[in-house]
Amino acid sequence: MAHFTCEVVYRGIFQKNLAARICRGIVLSARKAGRWGIAFGRYGDSPQRNGIPAKDFAIVADTQEELEQNMARYEPKEVDVTICVDDTLGKGVESWAWYGLQPINRLTVPNGTLLITSLQSADELLKDIHKKDAPYNMALIRAKASFSGLWVYKEDHTEARILGALAKIQPTFLSLDAVCQAVKEAEWGSDLKVQSARKAYERLERRSVTITEGNPETPYAFEKPKWWEMREGVSIPAIPVGKPMEGGKGYVPERNPYFKKFTTRTMRPVIDFDKCVKCTLCWIQCPDSCFDVTPDGLYDANMEACCGCGVCEAVCPVKDCITMVSEAAFEDNASQWEMWRQDKPKYLTWMGDKINSKSHVVRSHGFRFRGQYEEEIKQDLEQGGVAITAGIPGENAEAKTL
Ligand code: SF4
Ligand code: SF4
Repeated sequence: MAHFTCEVVYRGIFQKNLAARICRGIVLSARKAGRWGIAFGRYGDSPQRNGIPAKDFAIVADTQEELEQNMARYEPKEVDVTICVDDTLGKGVESWAWYGLQPINRLTVPNGTLLITSLQSADELLKDIHKKDAPYNMALIRAKASFSGLWVYKEDHTEARILGALAKIQPTFLSLDAVCQAVKEAEWGSDLKVQSARKAYERLERRSVTITEGNPETPYAFEKPKWWEMREGVSIPAIPVGKPMEGGKGYVPERNPYFKKFTTRTMRPVIDFDKCVKCTLCWIQCPDSCFDVTPDGLYDANMEACCGCGVCEAVCPVKDCITMVSEAAFEDNASQWEMWRQDKPKYLTWMGDKINSKSHVVRSHGFRFRGQYEEEIKQDLEQGGVAITAGIPGENAEAKTL
C-alpha cells in the first residue's frame, strides 16, 4: 500500500482556477493509472482575497481504503510534493487561520520535492526560501507566474506543464502516459497541451537542497492568546490612533501588529522621492494605511504592511514617481525613505536598478489598468512566447458539448 500527497500553494483569486485544474488533473491522471485520488481546498468554506496565499491538496492512493484513511484528516501534515505556482511565495506564506509566516517548504517531507514555476535560478530562489532541517529536492519549471482573475483563465499551459513535471517526480503514481491521457481528455485539455506536458517532463530541472542551504532568517511568528486571556463575547479592538514621528514632524499610523501583509505581495512600490509633489493621494488611497508621513512631508510605504495592490502607482499623478516592481527583486522590508535620506545618490542607483530591470517590472496582477492583459500577451509573443490557445472553457469543450 502506498500513497502520494501534494499541495498547491497559490495566490488567492489570481490562481484559484489554476490550482483547481492542477489538483483535478492529478486525480484524473491517477485514475488513468488505475489509482484512486481526491482533490480538495484548504479554504473551501471561506472566501479568498486577491493575492492572499492559499492551498489546494491532492492525494493519490493505491486503494480506496488508503485514500479514505488519508481523507480523514483536516489537512495533510506533510506532503511529498509542494507545488508553488508563484516564486514570490518562496519568501513564506501567511494566510487566514495560520499564525505567522510558514516557510514554503514547511510541509515538504524529507527528500520530498518543492516544484516551482520561476524564471529565477535555484540559487537565487534559495536566498528567499527558508532553510529546512532535512534535505529535499527542488524542481524548476521555467515559467512566469500565471495570474488571472476569478472569472478569466490564462491559457498558458501552466497546468499541463505542472502535470508533466509531476510524472517525472512521482512516476510510480502518475505515469507520463496517464498524465497525457488525462490532459487530452480534460475539458480544458488539447493535443497542444499534451505536447506541453511532455516538454515539461523532458525539460524539468532538478537539484537537491542540503540543510545548510536557504534563507537562515527565523520566520515571523507571534504568541497566540491563551483561552484565559480572551475577552467575553466576540469583540474586535479598534486600531488605535497612530504615533508622531520625530517630535511630531511626521506621523506613523497604527497597524495590525499580527498580520504582516507582505506575503500577499507579488509586487511592491518603489518611490522616487525626488519626483514626489506631496499631493497626498497615495497616502489617502492606500487601502492598507501603509504610508508613514515623513518629517519632510513625503510618504514612505511601510513594507511590512503593503499588500502590493498597486493603487498608489495608479493614483500618483507624477509620471514614474511610483513604480511597481517584482517582489523577487528585494531582500528585506527596509524603509525606502530612510535609504533615500541617508544617501541620495546611492538610493538613485538602487532605485534605477530595480525599476529599469525588465525582469523586475515585467510582472503584474493582471488588473492594474484596462487592456493590460492584452498588452501582456502581446509582449509575451514579442519576447518569443507561443500563442495561447482559446480561452475558457478550452479546446476540448466543443467536442464534449460543454
Ligand atoms: S501597493 Fe501601494 S496602495 Fe497598495 S498596499 Fe502597497 S503601498 Fe498601499
Ligand atoms: S501620489 Fe505620488 S506625488 Fe502624490 S504624494 Fe504620493 S508619491 Fe508623492
